[in-house]
Amino acid sequence: MSFENLNLIEPIRKALQTEGYTKPTPIQAQAIPFILQGKDLLGCAQTGTGKTAAFAIPILQLLANQQEEEKGSRRIKALILTPTRELAIQIGDSFAAYGANTSLKHTVIFGGVSQKSQTDALQRGVDILVATPGRLLDLVNQRLINLQHISIFVLDEADRMLDMGFVHDVKKVLGIIPAKRQSLFFSATMPAAIISLAGSILKNPARVEV
Ligand code: AMP
Repeated sequence: MSFENLNLIEPIRKALQTEGYTKPTPIQAQAIPFILQGKDLLGCAQTGTGKTAAFAIPILQLLANQQEEEKGSRRIKALILTPTRELAIQIGDSFAAYGANTSLKHTVIFGGVSQKSQTDALQRGVDILVATPGRLLDLVNQRLINLQHISIFVLDEADRMLDMGFVHDVKKVLGIIPAKRQSLFFSATMPAAIISLAGSILKNPARVEV
């Protein structure tokens, strides 16, 4: 399997070449076709397997294609929830790298720092938002973020999210974003609480495991 088999658009193929990626990792080879088809996905994968690119690449492609039809309107269309600041920054870096040749914009928000530079970036307009739950809800409550146009939702590291006590925040976010959306759910482990949470988020998901 090579990236050629995945029908990726030229700007993304070029970016992957620049990154020096020659072939997709197993999670990417399995997940990318389902995500490009618009399916919900339940992914069982650890960090280090290439799972970030497994969702970032197809999200960029779906939004780049959508952007051609929409022309101009810059609203948050993809939301990635992740438990820690470090992961949020890494995911943001991945969107920057794979999306370098597209005109899509993203930003990263997390707690523990001043919100000013984050809200400035939001005001300039982004297509993709990577966030930790607490700061996201804080800014939503201040009406500085509108989540009504989300069409793709990713819950990353769901097991760590629960371990860190974010289940309430995640459920609040789920109550705000549109019900009609594509959802992608990633977890390194699948205990009962995670399967139950996944069941409440996903509709008829494709399952991939590495
Ligand atoms: P992740 O599991 O998303 O944390 O990714 C682990 C590391 O693998 C990151 O440093 C990525 O840059 C790298 N990576 C992801 N996909 C590929 C690929 N197809 N080829 C080579 N490296 C990759």
